[in-house]
Amino acid sequence: MIDVRGVRKSFGPLEVLRGVDLRVRAGEVAAVLGPSGSGKSTLLRTINRLERADGGWVSIDGELIGYRRSRGRLHELRERDVLRQRTHIGFVFQDFNLFPHLTALENLVEAPVSALRRPRGQAERTARALLERVGLADKAGAYPRQLSGGQQQRVAIARALALEPKVLLFDEPTSALDPELVGEVLDVIKDLAASGTTMVVVTHEIGFAREVADTVVFMDGGVVVEQGPPAAVLNDPRHPRTRAFLAKVL
Ligand code: ATP
Ligand code: MG
Repeated sequence: MIDVRGVRKSFGPLEVLRGVDLRVRAGEVAAVLGPSGSGKSTLLRTINRLERADGGWVSIDGELIGYRRSRGRLHELRERDVLRQRTHIGFVFQDFNLFPHLTALENLVEAPVSALRRPRGQAERTARALLERVGLADKAGAYPRQLSGGQQQRVAIARALALEPKVLLFDEPTSALDPELVGEVLDVIKDLAASGTTMVVVTHEIGFAREVADTVVFMDGGVVVEQGPPAAVLNDPRHPRTRAFLAKVL
């Protein structure tokens, strides 16, 4: 379960998150929609603490991110402990971010060996099973430049899964893809959704949000304007800003 309460974040004078509240229950998929600049990426980056919030807090399965509680007070975690937390918060980027000098298999093996101290043989077995799960069993030895965008993104998803994440965060996972490659990546995400992985997916794919999300979150101006079941938010939005946004994209 992801719990975001009152999260605020500014860059200099620019207030990007102005008190974001968001709850995603275990096993649920939240689709986050909103105009460019509304703070969607910043919110994801704050959840896994690539950005440090100025106020509010984030907890995942009851564990505060970036802090520990001691004698009723909050203490900021050291970077090493933040890295350990981040290891279990899978992040899939728009532009894949694979290691270019490593094969697909090595991309999946690297972090489990270095961060989780898994034996290499075990990490490789897991990696092969994950590549198979995303339909790329035959591409284990390929380098990223030898793969299509859709294949690279599926490797990136498998790489996130290799770290045994509690939750997966996706930032526009299909935006950099040619239209004909979008479907294969969305199918993998749908498959994960069906298997009960807790996910937050920032997306412009309204059809995907309607079909797969348990909850749709509309952000604008650094706040969650509206959150609810897809049918409610997409077909019968309450807020005029949601209506105006959907009128443009649907
Ligand atoms: P998009 O749909 O275009 O990806 P977004 O909703 O993801 O937009 P963010 O990337 O979160 O929006 O950015 C929100 C605002 O914060 C933008 O005005 C952006 O320029 C600004 N911003 C984001 N990161 C930084 C940073 N590191 N330093 C300064 N400003 C930033
Ligand atoms: Mg963004």
